[in-house]
Amino acid sequence: MSWSPFAGAVPIGPGVRMDSLANMSQDAQRTYVVNTYGCQMNEHDSERIAGLLEADGLVRAESESDADVVVLNTCCIRENADNKLYGNLGHLKTWKAKKDGRQIVVSGCLAQKDQELVAQRAGHVDVVMGTHNVHRAAELLEAAKSSEVPITEILEAAVIDDHAMFPSALPVRREQSYNSWVTIQIGCDNNCAFCIVPAVRGEEISRPYADIVGEVQQLAADGVTEVTLLGQNVNSYGRDLQLAERQGGNAEAKLRPLFSNLLRDVGAVPGIRRVRYTSPHPKDMRPDTFAAMAETDAVCEHLHYPLQSGSDRVLALMHRGYTAERYLERLDQARAAIVDLAVSTDIIVGFPGETDDDFERTLEVAAAAEYDYAYTFLFSPREGTEAADMADDFVDAAVAHERFERLRIVVERSAVAKHEARVGRTEEVLVEGPSKKDPSVTSGRTRQNKLVHFEAPHPMRVGSYATVEVTHAAPHHLLGRFVEQIADAQHKLRIPVASL
Ligand code: SF4
Repeated sequence: MSWSPFAGAVPIGPGVRMDSLANMSQDAQRTYVVNTYGCQMNEHDSERIAGLLEADGLVRAESESDADVVVLNTCCIRENADNKLYGNLGHLKTWKAKKDGRQIVVSGCLAQKDQELVAQRAGHVDVVMGTHNVHRAAELLEAAKSSEVPITEILEAAVIDDHAMFPSALPVRREQSYNSWVTIQIGCDNNCAFCIVPAVRGEEISRPYADIVGEVQQLAADGVTEVTLLGQNVNSYGRDLQLAERQGGNAEAKLRPLFSNLLRDVGAVPGIRRVRYTSPHPKDMRPDTFAAMAETDAVCEHLHYPLQSGSDRVLALMHRGYTAERYLERLDQARAAIVDLAVSTDIIVGFPGETDDDFERTLEVAAAAEYDYAYTFLFSPREGTEAADMADDFVDAAVAHERFERLRIVVERSAVAKHEARVGRTEEVLVEGPSKKDPSVTSGRTRQNKLVHFEAPHPMRVGSYATVEVTHAAPHHLLGRFVEQIADAQHKLRIPVASL
């Protein structure tokens, strides 16, 4: 089959009507909203789309009713994502008809996967663009002004300029500027049977090392004190960089930069107090990463370590590439290396073919791992994945729900025990703002990523640091007593991008 980097694309540049380009100046008053579905990758892409639109003269609107452009940045990982998208697009048809010049953009994973379907089912959409097209958002919107049909453009990462493919390398309108996501890698070379990411985000490509460190230095200069390194499989960072050098004829290609090198260098940037990362893959976890975490003061004592299943048989069906024993061994190594490490995980309940015995293994591993918290999911098929074709082995819904509840109890037991062990300790807290339930209470996160509520003696700016003595433990949060403020926020405040 022939391959085209521009599936159904309308070229921008020569051939675009001049009258549409002349409208550029009118964009000074045009407004936009970006509605985001899904994961941190998508939220970070949305920041970049917003940044590009603002660089092109648009200003952020408070709501859809005030906006000229609505961007729906979609995710196909969530259940019923397509139904939700088409529901929203139906509502936006009415919205669009109320004012001339309004435009709708559908971007992200679902757009990448279903580009033609979106254009067919919602002909009032102006632009459908894929996960590697973020840098083209403003150009595509401009081109759509002179097009009678939706413009669909899906780029493959391989044809994109090294810098433009990484959302972090583009103009940005950051959601909260005291902390920031930094993309270190896009795509994924694994093939987990339940996951649609490799199909929609493409092969794994590492961002140049110097670009990452440079971005973190710039962020620190702007007052950011916490960064989260983002990728689908962060601890395989750099694998492709060395391969590319070798394929380019450089037999002497240096050893690839390791994720652990990156942790050390990012953590050494002056002004950066906290470094986090997500997500690592247990099969690629290496002792040097644990050493870097232990030896770099800024790297937080928190490891998100996705288990998915405790059954070796199910792990093999999922193509996860590790056994439960190896998973726990590596976890022991991490805890031995990093003092006071908090550990969280992802677990899928009811993967096709999961038996009672398989599920017992999951309960055993979850109990042995003593997680601080876990994201537990009931399996639901994602069209286009291997697991979606295993319908004959789908687990009965009632059985899956009963297992899910048993797992919740096991995880909650260790979560409460971990929280209770912190009572009486004084923790460093990064202030996130007033509590959602009670605005008179201040909320923040410890280095172990634990949510703490406390009463501050004076209003504390988001992004400042305090020490708090933990006085009470609950399964999902801690309560504490303010001790002292230890650092002021350094950043300029900005208004958040809407997130769904
Ligand atoms: S490692 Fe597996 S679960 Fe994670 S993005 Fe890649 S395929 Fe999906």
